[in-house]
Amino acid sequence: MNVFPKQREQSLAALVESPLDLLVVGGGIVGSGIVRDAAMRGLRAALVEQYDFAFGTSSRSSRLLHGGLRYLAQGRIGLVHEASLEKKTIHHIAPHLAEPLPFLFPAYRENKEWLLWKLKIGVKIYDLLCGGKNLGKSSWLNPAETLQQASTLKSEGLTGAVRYFDGFTNDARLVMDTLRSAARHHGILLNYCRFRNATQNELWECELSDAIAGANFSVRARTIVNATGPWSDGLPHSRIKLRLAKGVHLVVNRSRISSADTVVMTEGKRILFAIPWGERTILGTTDTDYNGPLDKIFADNSDIRYILEITNRFFPRANLSERDVISSWAGVRPLIADPHGSPSDISRSHEIHSPEKNWWDVAGGKLTTYRLMAEQTVERIVEALKRDGLKRDLAPCRTAVEPLLPPDETAGVSGVVPPEWTRDAVKHFCENEWAAHLDDVMVRRTGWHYYWADAGARAAQVAAWMGEFLEWPEPQRAAEIERYRTVTQANAASNEDG
Ligand SMILES: Cc1cc2nc3c(=O)[nH]c(=O)nc-3n(C[C@H](O)[C@H](O)[C@H](O)COP(=O)(O)OP(=O)(O)OC[C@H]3O[C@@H](n4cnc5c(N)ncnc54)[C@H](O)[C@@H]3O)c2cc1C
Repeated sequence: MNVFPKQREQSLAALVESPLDLLVVGGGIVGSGIVRDAAMRGLRAALVEQYDFAFGTSSRSSRLLHGGLRYLAQGRIGLVHEASLEKKTIHHIAPHLAEPLPFLFPAYRENKEWLLWKLKIGVKIYDLLCGGKNLGKSSWLNPAETLQQASTLKSEGLTGAVRYFDGFTNDARLVMDTLRSAARHHGILLNYCRFRNATQNELWECELSDAIAGANFSVRARTIVNATGPWSDGLPHSRIKLRLAKGVHLVVNRSRISSADTVVMTEGKRILFAIPWGERTILGTTDTDYNGPLDKIFADNSDIRYILEITNRFFPRANLSERDVISSWAGVRPLIADPHGSPSDISRSHEIHSPEKNWWDVAGGKLTTYRLMAEQTVERIVEALKRDGLKRDLAPCRTAVEPLLPPDETAGVSGVVPPEWTRDAVKHFCENEWAAHLDDVMVRRTGWHYYWADAGARAAQVAAWMGEFLEWPEPQRAAEIERYRTVTQANAASNEDG
């Protein structure tokens, strides 16, 4: 038995009350951006997510708001320019989730792929592509200055470094705060609710299943958007073809890698990052084709070895081994299918298609460009609704100028590092952020699971707090701890075949 928090009851009632202008399927960053935009314009918009909000790729990224220096090296100027402007827009609408992040990109004599003179030109172009003003000004460092920034960096063959800026975010929090913003504009939001199918009569008749109540129900909607990321080619009516590329991140203690800046580590044309995250460092990522199950994606031993090996090459004194890994996460990039080339070479641009009347598939893209993807999608939906006779006056798109949330609604609960581990924070997540299971709080609302080496012990206390607020009887509290263990063990599990 689960006590339905008021928020959920209200969403369920609102969903079936009268036809929706828009049903968004998928509660990752793309779906969240779309429902926020649509609700802000005055559409009756709802979003359903089969698991928890941000369950998919949007809680498993590198957490960078970036144009992508790597894409610049591939000559994808348009993509870099577009994403660079968006990174600044997110900094404007959600400064608490877009901290300026300095990057140190060291160059070595033996590394012909990334020569210092090319990097120097690259970072200047990178700044220019941000409309002339990046989140910080790029600069060049000689070898001694480089080692001052990162004292344990490999010094042999070092010819210097460039320093440039991108944004550091918290992907799952960006989803939550975008959804909270949507809710303030009367967006209807439901997690643990799966879209099963839809048939088009005058309106779309959509079949949904509520995993918490264990019940099926239907809603009517004028338009539907498929924003299901890696799942999007399997949804009924979808015409998307994806190529999935898996990426893994590891978390280690920051004391093992002494650098004030994020350090760029290269392997051939690929680049990996060591990103300072409070008292920890995030290391990643990998980029390999993936064909396994989408709800159980593991960091396998070879992924872990690969990342540690490259990190140890750049920070020989760190001497990291599997035992130093506090936590890990793995996700898949929903790239638009291109059977040729390595996953790293496939474009990160997005596409919006309407394979059937009043149905849109949105695919590809990046966390950084989510707001723009949403704006372009909702623009098309509004056109279609008007063609079908919608007479209401709608507001123009305001997502680039209106802050996600007022600062007092994010203080203490949302930022790039986890919030304090308190009963009050947990109460907030249960009452205001749709948390229904222990892992919703430990993994996505807070990131405590990834941050604390003793996360398992802390989880028992969080379960006790959640039990109070959600009125869990004792067996349910125990079941939630078991569920959390299963989910998070899966994250850390070794799966050579996965
Ligand atoms: C390793 C890695 C690193 C990355 N790093 C960065 C980065 O640093 N910066 C950046 O800008 N981008 C980055 N990205 C890309 C970015 O994370 C993704 O582009 C983005 O998160 C995709 O969001 P999405 O909403 O499309 O998909 P998702 O977040 O996967 O959301 C789709 C949702 O749809 C739900 N769903 C599926 N089927 C149904 C159904 N039938 N009914 C209801 N719901 C359903 C799923 O449960 C899921 O939650 C990275 C990606 C990876 C994998």
